[in-house]
Amino acid sequence: MVTYNKLGVKKIINAAGTYTKYSGSLMKEEVLDAMKKASKQFVDIDELLTKSGQYIAGLLDVEAALITAGAAAGLALSTAACIAGNNKYLSRQLPLSDGLKNEFIVMKSHRNPYDQAVITAGGKFVEIGNAIETFGWELEGAVNEKTAGVFFFVQSDMFRASLTLKKIIEIAHRHNLPVIVDAAAELPPKENLTKFVNQGADIVLFSGGKDLRGPQSSGLMLGRQELLDKCRANGYPNHALGRPMKLDKETIMGLTTAIELYLNEDQKARMEQWEEQTDFMYEKLKNIEAFEIELGYPDQPLTQPASIPRLFIEVDEEILGFNKEQLRDKLAQDEPVVIVETDKNHLLINPHMLQRGEEKIIVKKFKDIIKEE
Ligand SMILES: *Cc1c(COP(=O)(O)O)cnc(C)c1O
Repeated sequence: MVTYNKLGVKKIINAAGTYTKYSGSLMKEEVLDAMKKASKQFVDIDELLTKSGQYIAGLLDVEAALITAGAAAGLALSTAACIAGNNKYLSRQLPLSDGLKNEFIVMKSHRNPYDQAVITAGGKFVEIGNAIETFGWELEGAVNEKTAGVFFFVQSDMFRASLTLKKIIEIAHRHNLPVIVDAAAELPPKENLTKFVNQGADIVLFSGGKDLRGPQSSGLMLGRQELLDKCRANGYPNHALGRPMKLDKETIMGLTTAIELYLNEDQKARMEQWEEQTDFMYEKLKNIEAFEIELGYPDQPLTQPASIPRLFIEVDEEILGFNKEQLRDKLAQDEPVVIVETDKNHLLINPHMLQRGEEKIIVKKFKDIIKEE
């Protein structure tokens, strides 16, 4: 059997979070079982997408659901759906969209690296607001006959410059425009799965490979049936914009299973494990002279999910002899490879994707690095 070991691919201890670069999350056995079972027979992909969507919509008590090849694929499909609808002639033109209704209004403070998926599908962004503020009249004023929809990026909801989702939905709906919400990494808490559709968002996107712990290459789209049908028309397996965003039957069954498990999971027990792990690391690392450690919850924007405790470590370069970025790189060097993130002021330890016991390996690695110096 080919193994990571045989290939020389190193194991990572993931104290960073559900980063795509670090392979997202780990699937449960039940998810893998469902995938294996799914692999044993042929099915019609369209039927499977429709029926898995209906099943998930039923579980979540929302109007409609659709599995996609990731949240970013969902952004692209949403864009195609808003521009071309289920008009086959228009669908086939994408991503070329000159002359079509192809404008998407977005707050400047909501632009982010994932929104290229909108551009990829033929969307043109029309930005409103600035780094300090955005007004409702800017949204009203930007609407014209070429406007196809409004994008909203949940993480930026925390920025002062952002209008609230509620306000955006109210104005957009007054102009009959759909609101597409990127909530890819907004779990936990599990209530967020339905929060944004219940607020009236027309399409809400989640990653299947982050907290849901489905296949890494999967995503979940929730929203209005009529719009999701248009996404499906522009998506795999049809010859359309979404054709390269392929979804196998195993992935579809894997994510469906992962969502069902997620809804029945003891979220409190997960939180307790994260707290135990951060408490342990805090106790073991707090006396290191070069560290100033705070145990808490992120309050700054762009550190999601905010519901998980973190260690925020300030590193005294004078005492340690190197800075926090160098420490981060040393942690990632040689096995056991420990991956952590840094922000402007801290080295961050996030327990979200830690396996039980890995907190001990992390502490040892820190101590080994500091002792060596
Ligand atoms: C991870 C992420 C995405 C992309 O999700 P995939 O499922 O990896 O395609 C999009 N937007 C945000 C905010 C994300 O965090």
